[in-house]
Amino acid sequence: MPRLVSKILQSILVVPFGAIVFTLIAALTEELLPWQYARRSAVMTGGGTWLFMIVYWTALWRSYVLWTRYRTYRTLASGVLCAGAGAAVGYFSAPLWGLIIASGLGGGGAAFAWMGWTTVIWRQTREEAGAAAPVACPVCGYNLSGLKHTTCPECGASLTLEQLLSRQRSEEVRSLKS
Ligand SMILES: [Zn+2]
Repeated sequence: MPRLVSKILQSILVVPFGAIVFTLIAALTEELLPWQYARRSAVMTGGGTWLFMIVYWTALWRSYVLWTRYRTYRTLASGVLCAGAGAAVGYFSAPLWGLIIASGLGGGGAAFAWMGWTTVIWRQTREEAGAAAPVACPVCGYNLSGLKHTTCPECGASLTLEQLLSRQRSEEVRSLKS
């Protein structure tokens, strides 16, 4: 299976994995903390689930993002905004629907909102997509961009289009840009 397909399947798994983490923390905190700490346990459940989801998501897609200072800043700022909104949702929904639902709404909501936002922040711009990916000689690494033939002017290797294409494909990030 292509790596990108595997990544997308793993992305979808954030939903059941998040639900498992949520259930585990909820059960653990209920078991370990006395009942007076129900609010604290709800915060830990929502916060822990949120943390798991954003770390999972970042680890999954980090290497596919073209990190610029602007992207890093927007990623962090959107994370903080979503976390704040999630905390507010949890706080205000707790008296209405109970602590468990509030912690799920707050933690899961903050994580899902941020994940959705990152699909926009992390998407490459038209300029980035249009920038020609450098084609390197598989023998010596010389940049072959702009050449009209497939003989390397540096080392003289006579290359086929298949060789150049398979070299391009092996460079994961580049193949994802197409
Ligand atoms: Zn060469």
